[in-house]
Amino acid sequence: MEFPITNLLDKEYCTQWIIEHFRPSGFRCPVCAAGVDQAREFRTTKRSQLTVYRCCCQATYNLYTGTLFQQHHLTPMQIVLLIRGVLKGEPATTLAAELVLNYQTVLTLRHDLQAQAERLQPDTPLDDDETETDEMFQNAGEKRL
Ligand SMILES: [Zn+2]
Repeated sequence: MEFPITNLLDKEYCTQWIIEHFRPSGFRCPVCAAGVDQAREFRTTKRSQLTVYRCCCQATYNLYTGTLFQQHHLTPMQIVLLIRGVLKGEPATTLAAELVLNYQTVLTLRHDLQAQAERLQPDTPLDDDETETDEMFQNAGEKRL
């Protein structure tokens, strides 16, 4: 996964990135599944600066509702850069300092992201293990030359 860092610092771009990666079926009401275009803007959250939408079914939701980011009060830029840091293996202390986040929040979100990624791993074995073994021997052979 590539992270074009300069573009990701833009709030709208980060919001779209989060929608693309965490709401693959679209940004919708968690209750009735109506699209966000059918909701009205209700208010903006103080710390994360997210728009809270009120759906035609009266449910309220925001970008993080139903995701592991809900209740953490991070901005979209902090979310994207946190995920980037976790995938790059940055230490939690570094991420907490760079993103101005609580150390425990970084640990919790890193753990939750890793657990979710593990759940999404396919549990079927690769169907080409013979090819991999062949390639392993091939590579070992090349090194001797
Ligand atoms: Zn709804």
